[in-house]
Amino acid sequence: MATGREQFKQRQEAIAALGRPLSRRARSRCELCDASGTRLTPFEVAPIPEEPDPDHAVMLCDRCITGATGGKIQGNEWRFLETAAWNELAPVQVLAVRMVRRLEADKSVDWASDLLGMLYLPPEVEEWLG
Ligand SMILES: [Zn+2]
Repeated sequence: MATGREQFKQRQEAIAALGRPLSRRARSRCELCDASGTRLTPFEVAPIPEEPDPDHAVMLCDRCITGATGGKIQGNEWRFLETAAWNELAPVQVLAVRMVRRLEADKSVDWASDLLGMLYLPPEVEEWLG
């Protein structure tokens, strides 16, 4: 039986293996802010499936990883989320909408609530957002 430590290591390796399909899909750009020429890391969008799955993950730059993991997101520096929230890829859209909701709650920008009001979300994305 695998120990907790081994399981953690296996998970890290599985997430690292997401890098190849995600890089191809993302064309070496951050899937939220479109940054290129910077370090990109696979990021799993909660709820996290048992097996790492590219359809539940996105490729992010360091700034977006920080924001996606609860770091401060505030102000028009994050306006690229307005575009990302319309992304046709469900994991990108789910993550972007969650972050726009945080911006709306923070009230530092006026476009977040307008965007959420007009955004069309497919049923599977609605369900994923919960
Ligand atoms: Zn980014």
